[in-house]
Amino acid sequence: MRMTRYFLPVLKETPAEAQIVSHRLMLRAGMIKQSAAGIYSWLPLGYKVLKNIETIVHEEQARAGHHAMLMPTIQSADLWRESGRYDDYGEEMLRIKDRHDRDMLFTPTAEELITDIFRAHVSSYKDMPLTMYQIQWKFRDERRPRFGVMRGREFYMKDGYNFDLTKEDALHAYNRHLVSYLRTYERMGLQAIPMRADSGPIGGDDTHEFLVLAETGESEVFYDSAVTELTFGDREIDYDDHAQCAGVMEEFTTKYARTDETHDEALFNEVPEERRRVARGIEVGQIFYFGTKYSDALGATVQGPDGKPVAVHMGSHGIGVSRLLGAIIEASHDDKGIIWPEGVTPFHVGIVNLKQGDDEADAACDSLYAQIEAMGLEPLYDDRNERAGGKFATMDLIGLPWRITVGPRGLKNGVVELTSRKTGESEELVPAVAIAKIAEIYGKS
Ligand code: ATP
Ligand code: MG
Repeated sequence: MRMTRYFLPVLKETPAEAQIVSHRLMLRAGMIKQSAAGIYSWLPLGYKVLKNIETIVHEEQARAGHHAMLMPTIQSADLWRESGRYDDYGEEMLRIKDRHDRDMLFTPTAEELITDIFRAHVSSYKDMPLTMYQIQWKFRDERRPRFGVMRGREFYMKDGYNFDLTKEDALHAYNRHLVSYLRTYERMGLQAIPMRADSGPIGGDDTHEFLVLAETGESEVFYDSAVTELTFGDREIDYDDHAQCAGVMEEFTTKYARTDETHDEALFNEVPEERRRVARGIEVGQIFYFGTKYSDALGATVQGPDGKPVAVHMGSHGIGVSRLLGAIIEASHDDKGIIWPEGVTPFHVGIVNLKQGDDEADAACDSLYAQIEAMGLEPLYDDRNERAGGKFATMDLIGLPWRITVGPRGLKNGVVELTSRKTGESEELVPAVAIAKIAEIYGKS
């Protein structure tokens, strides 16, 4: 993409209404624009990152064997009356009436609807286990929408639902989700720590939240610092292997890590003092096992192997897709702007032309641009007639992990400059070597 053709409305001033750094940077980098409290338009740069995050979630869900689907945002109140949640959900539910005066609502989550689909189509144990998920807009009329996309009213969420014949199978589904979430967050350059949590209005006993440590997080968390040393990496997992998934679950959840809702001071004190940490975290996902709560309420039974009806065991599992943009920025920025991890960056490489209109510099930039595109990567070329300082400031603000700087002086010696946004380190390289390095970084060589 050439910057002169792009829509990138960066702001010079720091917006006064934004209280935390991710919100400020998303507004300044022209990623989002508020349209009403807690409701945002996603401008091209923000939308690109949102889609990248969504793609990673889809890929990891597919790897775990879960089926993507899509349910409507507007639902009839009837099913929610059946489960009892129409009244229980409270003021966070946006209630709407259609022209026939029927009660409708904007979905805050979708346990009822998915259970209705299941009960309509699945009648035998032979069609299980089954896990389906969607990535869809949700609406919750939060009391205090704030911090930009971190606590919106309209937000983008992955919500998945497993249906299993037995508790044992459903607990495997729970473990499988935990494993797939660990991979998902790591691919986004994030460490998200599973912590024992409270189930709240969804109900159920087993639940973990995934938290990204950040000073601006809304949750108070208590943990053994040894949990921050665990990484999932690129280990091979057979998602059908109960013992293997249970092993990962144990590895990542045995050490003390809890939110304030489930914190137990006596247990915490058993952690060696030098490893005890009290900090703040951003909740980027949650997994639940809630047994037969919804299948009982909505009559979702299947015929078991012995011919008798069995209520199915369920769980639900969410990832805050739009919140993740804020969480990633909170975890990865400096005083100049965002530092995107390579896995989610909106463009792979920025190209800065120090002398727009200089034949040689223009030709070198065009050539780099074409080579980067030919690798299947996306460059963002700052081809504006601006001073170098302004171009660098924009690139630093929008946070592309790699920048190639091209100028007449370097070209005289046959070199361009490759700069890492994260370390700030630059190398002078002949263009072909710079391209080879980019290929290596993004696994294209
Ligand atoms: P919270 O405690 O932050 O209100 P929750 O526990 O009610 O969230 P879940 O029902 O578990 O949320 O939803 C799954 C995920 O969706 C959460 O882990 C979070 O990342 C995200 N999420 C929830 N509410 C919001 C919101 N208002 N804005 C943006 N993301 C949200
Ligand atoms: Mg939650």
